[in-house]
Amino acid sequence: QFGAGGGYGEQGYSEERISAQRVADHYSARSNQTLEERENSPIIHLKKLNNWIKSVLVQLYARPGDCVLDLACGKGGDLIKWDKAKVGYYVGVDIAEGSIKDCMTRYNGDSDQQRRKKFSFPARLICADCYETRLDEYLCEDAPFDICSCQFAMHYSWSTEARARQALANISALLRPGGTFIGTMPDANVIIKRLRESEGMEFGNSVYCITFGEEYTEKDAVDCPEWVVPFHLFKLLAEEFDLELVLMKNFHEFVHEYVQRPEFADLMRRLGPLGDGRSGQSTLSQDEWEASYLYLAFVLRKRGPPPSQ
Ligand code: SAM
Repeated sequence: QFGAGGGYGEQGYSEERISAQRVADHYSARSNQTLEERENSPIIHLKKLNNWIKSVLVQLYARPGDCVLDLACGKGGDLIKWDKAKVGYYVGVDIAEGSIKDCMTRYNGDSDQQRRKKFSFPARLICADCYETRLDEYLCEDAPFDICSCQFAMHYSWSTEARARQALANISALLRPGGTFIGTMPDANVIIKRLRESEGMEFGNSVYCITFGEEYTEKDAVDCPEWVVPFHLFKLLAEEFDLELVLMKNFHEFVHEYVQRPEFADLMRRLGPLGDGRSGQSTLSQDEWEASYLYLAFVLRKRGPPPSQ
């Protein structure tokens, strides 16, 4: 479905809308890569590490039969993770029309990566601005959701206070009491520390570059405006919307903690970003590992007792 407040054609051109449109255009232009293009990416191991972290979050917090809301779902790279968790229903929302089309292709099983793959859950895909649109009105027939996920995208809501509030209002209104909100986003503490240590308004390494005031770029990944989210403010604002903090960990801490668990260590070995020291496969470079330090994972819970079965 397209147009639940996704396009800005007839809605005026405030600064926030122009920057949201820039983000949408940026992601729409990045069509699905082939498996070969993906494997040749200079940050392939970082992408695999990100996928491992998202898989761990899904495995820790999703239950069989869950109703899932994937905000800023992108091209549906997480569909397979939800399938492995045996969820019952999936709604994906993204502002980028091109990404929603790729997500639909992936769900229908005719992309390069997932030929003949059929997902076991029904899905609804919507093109909309999750931080502007009142999604509770739009999704009243699908709600309440057991789990909401917003991966590598919550910080796009931080361009204005109104958008940050609308994002959290949507999540709170759509989650059931006791429902879980999982996500990943840039770690403001680390970014500001790095900025203070740098000479000017820019820092980075061979795989990423952050420029303050203008734009943020990560080689072969993001090249559009991004916002820094001070986590203590995010936590306070989330509390206003009945969302209580359960967990917040920088990616380095997250990896160190969960890679100890046999079930997640095994997945790490299969994905390969940290290598197993035996197979001779290439592994995450020092620069990729440093780039992963720029992110954190969080889990919030919607206040209230879960409905009795
Ligand atoms: N969650 C996906 C993943 O982990 O693979 C995609 C992450 S990608 C880095 C960020 C996504 O956020 C893009 O697909 C982009 O279109 C989406 N996005 C950014 N601003 C948005 C908004 N206001 N509403 C909905 N989606 C948005």
